[in-house]
Amino acid sequence: MKVIVIGGGAAGFFAAIICARKYPKAQITLLEAAKDPLAKVKISGGGRCNVTHHCFDNTQLIQYYPRGSKALRGAFSRFNPQDTIDWFTQEGVNLKTEQDGRIFPVSNSSATIVDCLLKAAIKAKVVLKTGSPVVKILPGFTVVLKNGENLNCDRLLIATGGSACGHRWAKDLGHQIITPVPSLFTFNIKDSRLDGLAGVAVDNVSLSILEEGKARFTQSGPILVTHWGVSGPCVLKLSAWSARLLQENQYQMPLLIDWLPQYQAQDLQEQLLKFKSSNGKKQISGQCPFNLPKRLWQKLVEAAQISQDKIWAELSKSHLRALLNQLKQGTYQIQGKGVFKDEFVTCGGVDLSQINFKTMESKVTIGLYFAGEILDIDGLTGGFNFQSAWSTGWIAGESMGGG
Ligand SMILES: Cc1cc2nc3c(=O)[nH]c(=O)nc-3n(C[C@H](O)[C@H](O)[C@H](O)COP(=O)(O)OP(=O)(O)OC[C@H]3O[C@@H](n4cnc5c(N)ncnc54)[C@H](O)[C@@H]3O)c2cc1C
Repeated sequence: MKVIVIGGGAAGFFAAIICARKYPKAQITLLEAAKDPLAKVKISGGGRCNVTHHCFDNTQLIQYYPRGSKALRGAFSRFNPQDTIDWFTQEGVNLKTEQDGRIFPVSNSSATIVDCLLKAAIKAKVVLKTGSPVVKILPGFTVVLKNGENLNCDRLLIATGGSACGHRWAKDLGHQIITPVPSLFTFNIKDSRLDGLAGVAVDNVSLSILEEGKARFTQSGPILVTHWGVSGPCVLKLSAWSARLLQENQYQMPLLIDWLPQYQAQDLQEQLLKFKSSNGKKQISGQCPFNLPKRLWQKLVEAAQISQDKIWAELSKSHLRALLNQLKQGTYQIQGKGVFKDEFVTCGGVDLSQINFKTMESKVTIGLYFAGEILDIDGLTGGFNFQSAWSTGWIAGESMGGG
């Protein structure tokens, strides 16, 4: 049995290793365009590689995937974060869990993961051909390399991540491609209320993307004001869930920020009135009744058109309404997307309904397999994207060398 894997990333490597181990008689060739394989693993997690996430309940785990959750449920029942931890541990890689659930190698270096996968592939006798870009796939399968070489195989796995060529081949071989768009990005916002606040962080806000005045997607969590707009876990989550809607709207949409989601509007009003009655002589801009950064509070007071020297006793009904509005319903205009430490994934890819998730084989082209980011699967930050690459790679590897 001859198997070719195109793409020496997390999914391709894992599939090739698993396949070579399970089917020692199969001949596995792994083709990677770049001189050095596993480039994304190398740069991932800020050079530390966030391998997976401390989440062992599959029902909960799939909720971290804006696209692909349904299909992944079955995949995780066969290979989930615990299996990832066990696998790397058996290979001699010690992993650690950080407070927020992200799992990294104890070495704090992605090189540990790269070395582990390289060694495992070599030991399993995977034929690794780097600097070997594939330019064409002919049915049957013949894989044509850029140097003109033609390689034949019985089974072919395409694991080329978000690369356009993989999507093109999949399409030519009869698959529908869900239009790829970026996911996991920050928002560009120019707004006087955020001017000069770069570096200000708030632990828990609620953000909503508005469409025709209605909240289409809402997420809550920490936010960070940046020089160009807003970032932080809450923004990244929201960008992932609304990736397609934002792209359709050219990244120009209104964003509602509720700076104090822990309070209902009525409670908040009562808190403000209570504070007013006991702090009447103090300046409004100088005394924030809530756990908000002082500079942010001052900006919101200014946006409510309350002059800097006004004291709490002078807070009128209309000013109170304006302040409440700024605190709970401030609308900001998203004017574009930024990058989050260059960390992004592709939303979209090969249509999952055309894939048999028990094997990762195409339902359209027998003998053709897919794994990793080329599929219409993407997760939030936290190790979820690698987890789907390990899981789908493992399933492909387990099945494509048999028969
Ligand atoms: C900066 C950054 C940091 C990240 N950090 C994390 C993290 O810490 N944790 C996490 O879970 N996710 C992280 N991600 C996401 C994660 O890296 C990807 O989801 C994952 O790498 C996808 O694996 P893959 O094997 O499907 O694709 P890829 O890793 O993209 O691998 C595809 C491979 O195919 C090769 N290829 C493409 N075209 C051809 C061709 N024509 N011929 C031969 N080879 C070809 C490419 O060179 C590449 O090596 C990060 C992403 C980025 C960009």
